[in-house]
Amino acid sequence: LTEALEAEAGLPCITRDGHLLPLMLNTGLAADHARALAYGAEGVGLYRTEVQFMMAERFPSEQEQVALYRQQLSAFSPREVTMRTLDIGGDKPLPYFPIKEDNPCLGWRGIRFSLDHPEVFLSQVRAMLRASVGLNNLRILLPMISSVREVEEARALIRRAWVELKQGEGLAVNKPLVGAMIEVPAALFQIRALSERVDYLSVGSNDLTQYLLAVDRDNPKVAGLYSGYHPAVLNALNKIARDSHAARLPVSICGELAGDPAGAILLLAMGYQSLSMNLASLPRVKAAIRRVSVEDARELLKKALSCASTDQVIGHLGVFMNDLG
Ligand code: PEP
Ligand code: MG
Repeated sequence: LTEALEAEAGLPCITRDGHLLPLMLNTGLAADHARALAYGAEGVGLYRTEVQFMMAERFPSEQEQVALYRQQLSAFSPREVTMRTLDIGGDKPLPYFPIKEDNPCLGWRGIRFSLDHPEVFLSQVRAMLRASVGLNNLRILLPMISSVREVEEARALIRRAWVELKQGEGLAVNKPLVGAMIEVPAALFQIRALSERVDYLSVGSNDLTQYLLAVDRDNPKVAGLYSGYHPAVLNALNKIARDSHAARLPVSICGELAGDPAGAILLLAMGYQSLSMNLASLPRVKAAIRRVSVEDARELLKKALSCASTDQVIGHLGVFMNDLG
């Protein structure tokens, strides 16, 4: 980190014209919370619970999960921690639970696995709820949602876990907010219906880019085609923000695009309410946001949305970022 960025790291993330844009942390396992807090992270926007599962030799017990979740929730308390339920399959295999499929990214992953294995999902949700007793800063996030039925089933299981702990064990558990990830193109057209069933949305731009462009996010042969700056991706992100605003549903983003300064400026202009990113991105995104006004960002967005190609978008962004210094 340069000295200039270091000096700015603890300052608020506010545009030149006074618009506050909270920055959150993407993490998994044990976060470097001291550094995240020093960089002014306002909480955890994405806690990837699958990391603990991927590093274990068997499914972690409920108690093992409680221990890890409790550590995270207390480290960031009173700030919110958004814990995503298990998102395995696709690019995230479990060594002790091999899944053989021809198209793993279109297969049994994320919420699909969880709903087919309610015992795994319930133990995870119970662990989250137990860990949050007395802290109440837990938010639950559901990955790979492509239909409202998945949200309804997941919410019914979450409610069941809550009733078991509250009425069965007499624990003082609060009801957490429950949100859906928007990372499957189908969800783009379901925001109104989703808004009646979730408390917030969080966009996963990594998978959304992969699925919109039909480009494997991890395949080097097609890496040149993978870009969050493709005009189709930008227009999709803009639509999500607009439809969420129209439905009065809080919307944030936790894909890699938010951790790129130029991407963050476009997302600010679209009206995303918070951006979540890896630790290393926090200082440079903050420095960029502190140098723009919402008006300038909106002008840049207008240009980007009307571009015909990724190269054109990147051209505009390059000029803008250069002028920013
Ligand atoms: C995403 O898809 O953008 C996302 C944040 O989730 P992951 O990268 O863990 O799939
Ligand atoms: Mg994803």
